[in-house]
Amino acid sequence: MKRLDISAETPTGRVRRARKTYRALHEAYPYAHCELDFSSPLQLLVATVLSAQTTDVGVNKVTPVLFARYPDAAALAGADRTELEEILRPTGFYRVKANSVQTLAQALLENFGGEVPGRLKDLVTLPGVGRKTANVVLGNAFGVPGITVDTHFGRLVRRLGWTDETDPVKVEGIIGAMFPRKDWTMLSHVLIFHGRRLCHAKKPACGVCPVAQWCPSYGEGELDATKARKLLKFELAPGAAGAPSGTFAGLD
Ligand code: SF4
Repeated sequence: MKRLDISAETPTGRVRRARKTYRALHEAYPYAHCELDFSSPLQLLVATVLSAQTTDVGVNKVTPVLFARYPDAAALAGADRTELEEILRPTGFYRVKANSVQTLAQALLENFGGEVPGRLKDLVTLPGVGRKTANVVLGNAFGVPGITVDTHFGRLVRRLGWTDETDPVKVEGIIGAMFPRKDWTMLSHVLIFHGRRLCHAKKPACGVCPVAQWCPSYGEGELDATKARKLLKFELAPGAAGAPSGTFAGLD
């Protein structure tokens, strides 16, 4: 297969190609979802803060203990620091994270009565909460469509030739204009899934990529299907909810 040339692509053509790519990725990852476990906006907000520099799977291992011990913002704000650090230790940078979680919990108590606000403009006033974290919380805990421009999302939209922009806020605006609002949250999930599992930063598995025909970066990674398949990464245990379905051509 030849690499797609998009040098003469019109803006409308780009939107059409982007939407086709999204539909194909949605088919490849029908189970795409937020991979952090949570049962309330507070839990998701804290888990998202903890996910810095570590995997969602790693965060999911500590949050059941954390939220059982400290079920609300007041409990987190008043937690014994040493005990909190011990619980967070497996996530790495645990001292910084313990401080972040407590500062965040205090701000929730002082400014929002201990509740997580459901508006972007309020969420980004919280310490350590940027647009990326705010959109994760809005999209997944409040059902408000949001685009999460994390490292995977940014890399993917540039590789796919949807934009050259590197500033996350501008990327959010540009990509948001290419898709209906209702698709924003799922679009974020499928691009992040694709980036984590197949279109890796260092060596994308192009040879088994379900959207290769619409990708101007096809060939940047491994083209041999057998070798490419070995590059696939799945954090979830085989058979777990959300593990790869047999419908994805690139996966055995
Ligand atoms: S894996 Fe290769 S073909 Fe697929 S999106 Fe990434 S760079 Fe493009």
